[in-house]
Amino acid sequence: MNTGFQKGKKIIETLKDNGYEAYFVGGYVRDFLLKRKTNDIDIATSAKPEQVQEIFPKVIPVGIEHGTVIVRMQGESFEVTTFREESSYSDFRHPDQVQFVHEIEKDLSRRDFTMNAIAMDETGNLFDPFNGQADLTNQQIRTVREPSLRFQEDPLRIMRAARFVSQLGFHVEPNSKKAMKEYGPLLANISIERIVQEFEKLLAGRFVERGLQLFFETRLASQIPVIQESGNIQDRIRALSKPLGHIRELLTLCHFLDDTIGIRVFGQKWKLSRHTQREAEQLVTATYYFQEHGLDAWMIYQLPASLDESFIRVLDVLNNHTISLDSVLEIRRQLPIKERKQLSINGTDLASWFPQKQKGPWIGMWTEAIEHAVVIGKQRNDKKKIKEWVLSHGEHPPTNY
Ligand code: ATP
Ligand code: MG
Repeated sequence: MNTGFQKGKKIIETLKDNGYEAYFVGGYVRDFLLKRKTNDIDIATSAKPEQVQEIFPKVIPVGIEHGTVIVRMQGESFEVTTFREESSYSDFRHPDQVQFVHEIEKDLSRRDFTMNAIAMDETGNLFDPFNGQADLTNQQIRTVREPSLRFQEDPLRIMRAARFVSQLGFHVEPNSKKAMKEYGPLLANISIERIVQEFEKLLAGRFVERGLQLFFETRLASQIPVIQESGNIQDRIRALSKPLGHIRELLTLCHFLDDTIGIRVFGQKWKLSRHTQREAEQLVTATYYFQEHGLDAWMIYQLPASLDESFIRVLDVLNNHTISLDSVLEIRRQLPIKERKQLSINGTDLASWFPQKQKGPWIGMWTEAIEHAVVIGKQRNDKKKIKEWVLSHGEHPPTNY
């Protein structure tokens, strides 16, 4: 058994020692049964968030109003959610057997798909009242209970179905699929941030072509702002044959497709963070530079290392131009400096070399010329050498540095 299971087991045992019920649930059980890597471990318990906070030393209150806290244990995060139940039973500290079965079953019945509605105890025993295991075996996504009711109750589930198809390569059970088409327009009532979150996962799925096929077939494309307004963007998305890693990559691709649909438009309509918009702008700049000059040290120097993989994926989709991560990493490794701060000179040095000259924009221009020369290996990052070079040119840097 993996370490996530061992640590999760400890959390469940601790909750039980304190008189509560607790199970592994949700995506963790699904991925465990599929032998798939999981990113978070979901635990459902009869303990209230405040009670979980009393029991464990490190608890982050991420969504107390939904009954969810994160328990940190040995460097890992566990999402611990109180059984979703409104009945007065949930106030009893020591529910009897019948009642807790009732509670966990009720909790599972509120979950979206049968494959996400299986509970597992700390010994690996499964409680599967909606036959999620059979659906996992048949690679089928089916809502818990009546799809039309469940999609009306929370239309985000429609997007979730498409993203699970993209992640798992499963198909959607016909009734559920029919209801996806019918209730897709209700997505207008869901916050754009939650929709984009699911869409990003859809774009990143291993089976993205299948996910997108369903996305278009069920007409979800016409429910999402920006996408719904542009046939070009829809075509671009439809043509994706490999997963994207992050929404910033989609923004970059769309910029090159139709620059009237700027990054700002997505940013505003999708309520994206400034950070994500900035990253997309950096990818656009790097791509333009690449198209003109190819891969070189100056380009890699200006691109944050955290965007390397995004950059490679963008180029791959745009030009079918495959560059390897290794070649980028090798250039990065050989960079003489990683940032301007590492230059052996600064503005004060420059000013002191031209005591008769007033401070002004020339200092910034020289700094950039020096930075460029050092990065591409034309000048050593050595104060004495740089000073000689600068003085040989005077206060105006060469234009073709
Ligand atoms: P991931 O691998 O992306 O974490 P997940 O299935 O765990 O997938 P989460 O968003 O972490 O998805 O949600 C955890 C669990 O909560 C789900 O497996 C499901 O049981 C339940 N759930 C999440 N969102 C909904 C929803 N909109 N309606 C009903 N149940 C939901
Ligand atoms: Mg999860």
